[in-house]
Amino acid sequence: MRFLITAGPTREPIDPVRYLSNRSSGKMGYAIAEAAIQAGHDVVLISGPVDVDPPRGADLISISTSDEMFDAVHKRVRECDVLVMCAAVADYKPKQVSKNKIKKRDANLSLELVPTRDILASLPKQDRPYLVVGFAAETENIEANAQKKLREKNCDVVVANDVSRPDSGIESDENEVTILLRAGKMKNISRAPKQIVARELIKIFANVCEKRLTKKIA
Ligand code: C5P
Repeated sequence: MRFLITAGPTREPIDPVRYLSNRSSGKMGYAIAEAAIQAGHDVVLISGPVDVDPPRGADLISISTSDEMFDAVHKRVRECDVLVMCAAVADYKPKQVSKNKIKKRDANLSLELVPTRDILASLPKQDRPYLVVGFAAETENIEANAQKKLREKNCDVVVANDVSRPDSGIESDENEVTILLRAGKMKNISRAPKQIVARELIKIFANVCEKRLTKKIA
């Protein structure tokens, strides 16, 4: 199978030297890419700036902003069987990017932010030849919010994790996730190193993707 995986944060420029970003380390996305390669799948990895080495065998596309990630996903999505949107794409970006470095002054400074384009929500809603997996990093009402994301962003699968816990989720080497399928099924993967969680996730994604294909052929 052909996997298109996004990972890491995006950087939204404020001026030539400053940006808005988040704490995503890219570890989960890179572990998923590695697990997919180990399972014999083809992997295109679209990654924001991270400190992790890319898995050997992945076709790496490095991007920085949410707009670059948007374009890269749209360029490659038709060539994949499973899209895994693991990246922590910024939800907002500065309305204006200053051409010059903003000078320090004594007065307060306000930044006006505008929503970024939502990549998942921009994908076709019907007759997609690929499976769409979204991620939900939540600090409260994990299941309810993940259900909402599944519907609103029109995902086939949502992987939800609790990022309020210091031992799980963002930046951590371990994770614990809940997987929601469009058909209403739910699965849990209990706390384990991200590599182990990734292997389980790849099995689930490949399985759902295969079932979908056989349903279409039948
Ligand atoms: O709404 P929220 O940002 O929590 O949704 C997370 C999911 O949406 C992730 O799968 C993320 O990759 C995706 N996302 C996106 N485009 C954005 C922001 C998030 O596809 N602009």
